[in-house]
Amino acid sequence: MKVNATHRLVGNDNRQMAYDETPNGGGGLYGGVPRFLIIHYTAGASGSGTVSWFNNPAAKASAHLVVDHNGAITQMMSFDRIAWHAGRSSWKGVDGLNSHSVGIEIANWGLLHGAHGAWRSWTGTIVPDSRVVLRRHKNFEPSRINAWEIFDEDQIDATVAAAAAIVSRYGIPEENVLGHDDIAPIRKQDPGPAFDLNAFRAKVFGRAEDFGTTMRVHSATGLNLRKGPGTTFAAIVSLPDGTLVAPMGSDGGWVEVTTLNAVGQHDKTGWVHGNWLV
Ligand SMILES: [Zn+2]
Repeated sequence: MKVNATHRLVGNDNRQMAYDETPNGGGGLYGGVPRFLIIHYTAGASGSGTVSWFNNPAAKASAHLVVDHNGAITQMMSFDRIAWHAGRSSWKGVDGLNSHSVGIEIANWGLLHGAHGAWRSWTGTIVPDSRVVLRRHKNFEPSRINAWEIFDEDQIDATVAAAAAIVSRYGIPEENVLGHDDIAPIRKQDPGPAFDLNAFRAKVFGRAEDFGTTMRVHSATGLNLRKGPGTTFAAIVSLPDGTLVAPMGSDGGWVEVTTLNAVGQHDKTGWVHGNWLV
């Protein structure tokens, strides 16, 4: 995928992606190009439903791209113009991110609630357990664990491909790829903890191929990195919650990993128990 001269997304065969311009937006971005890329979930059932909604002037909302569950992308505004996805927002001294960013909406219910023995969307639609993860939102209080709809692999792959085309065309730096919950933390929860923004950034900026899948330490008290596969082996270091690791092998429930530093380079190698990796 790449971005063509008229700021639209095209496939590698130069064929334009579906384009369905929204009435909710327009006007040029500040400086004529995006400096930020903002990720959202739709809080809806399908991407096509969201495209319809964004075509309704009453929605007063839109995004540049909508990514459906099967990875189908619809562009609704060219990348040099404003879409209404961020609302009241700010990041490091920049206010009103709509004027500075491209917004990508991914079809996903987001935050769920339990009622009548099932996980449900805000509309009451049942979301099957197989599509639910329990995770803490970084903006919520530490003890609070919520249910979230998982994102589909096809969606993530399509979003990565589109984002890679956008950041390379406009020179958007990695630290400017953000969630709506980063730029409007009081009001917004999307894309939330079911969307691994760090892993996403790593893929978009082409680092993921260096070491295949990455995993993350999920343990509030930290996780010992040991010299061998068992508690009888000495601890090298305690890895804090959230540490990114690359699995290299396994022995029973133990996984040999290399920790990754902030820029994705390999750091320390050792063994951890797999129960605390996600
Ligand atoms: Zn949003």
